[in-house]
Amino acid sequence: MKPLHKLLPLLIVGLFISCTPKEKTSSPTLNTDQLIEDLRFISSDETEGRRTGTEGNRKAREYLVQRFEEEGANPFQGSFTHEFDFLNRNEEALAGINVVGEIPGKTDSVIVITAHYDHLGIRDSLIYNGADDDASGTAALITYIDYFSHIKPNHTLVFAAFDAEEMGLQGARAFTEDSVFMERVVMNINLDMISNNDQNELYASGTFHHPEFKPVLEGIETGEVKLLFGHDRPEQGYDDWTNASDHAAFHAKGKKFIYFGVEDHEHYHQHTDEFATIPLEFYKKSTETILNAILAFDKM
Ligand SMILES: [Zn+2]
Repeated sequence: MKPLHKLLPLLIVGLFISCTPKEKTSSPTLNTDQLIEDLRFISSDETEGRRTGTEGNRKAREYLVQRFEEEGANPFQGSFTHEFDFLNRNEEALAGINVVGEIPGKTDSVIVITAHYDHLGIRDSLIYNGADDDASGTAALITYIDYFSHIKPNHTLVFAAFDAEEMGLQGARAFTEDSVFMERVVMNINLDMISNNDQNELYASGTFHHPEFKPVLEGIETGEVKLLFGHDRPEQGYDDWTNASDHAAFHAKGKKFIYFGVEDHEHYHQHTDEFATIPLEFYKKSTETILNAILAFDKM
């Protein structure tokens, strides 16, 4: 054992190193335990299927506002909540509320990362929990906010949890009407159903429209996730996902997009799309794969 007076200078140096803020010495990791807890609450019976305009939808929204703030997002344009009016498919006037936060980057140009927090509600006394569709994408937004609050991205990252997607992409359509803001948007990364696949397969759809993104996605670390391309050609009819979720609102405004999602499965739009049927290990890996894609797009 060395005498203490020789160790003391080393101890003092060590003390200074350990006082250095964590984000400057190591890159952050995704908190996947918290990811699962967020998925569990958002898809719980307490939020009653999160149908737009309902009490359950309000509970989910309040949870999101709290979690966006806790993980370090700034309110978007002064507020985490953005109300909009729309006509549903029966021409009834309804109101929806998007939850939006941002992490400032080194530049003003924006990548918008989106998911939808609304779902189908209660039908015939059954709660449609929408765990994969789309509590999975919504909980992922929270974990990415946590991650990027510890490193400064190049682009400003705007995180939008849209309402009323199930009523015709209404929250996304309202959000993309802000033409002054949209000038700054370089791309949309949309997450809708990213957690449920028994083959470890996840699609990155949209490279048919934006082929420059394909080599970027081919270069990322995906671990055990099989990242597939496709579902983006007009001649595929129903299997073309170009207009299937909120990225369609960005596409309609001429903005680039990549949509992450799994193939339709037996629980899609069924009351069995619930926390208990989610393969949690695949969900964690899929969320990590999409993080690697975000990091790669942020470098472009
Ligand atoms: Zn969906």
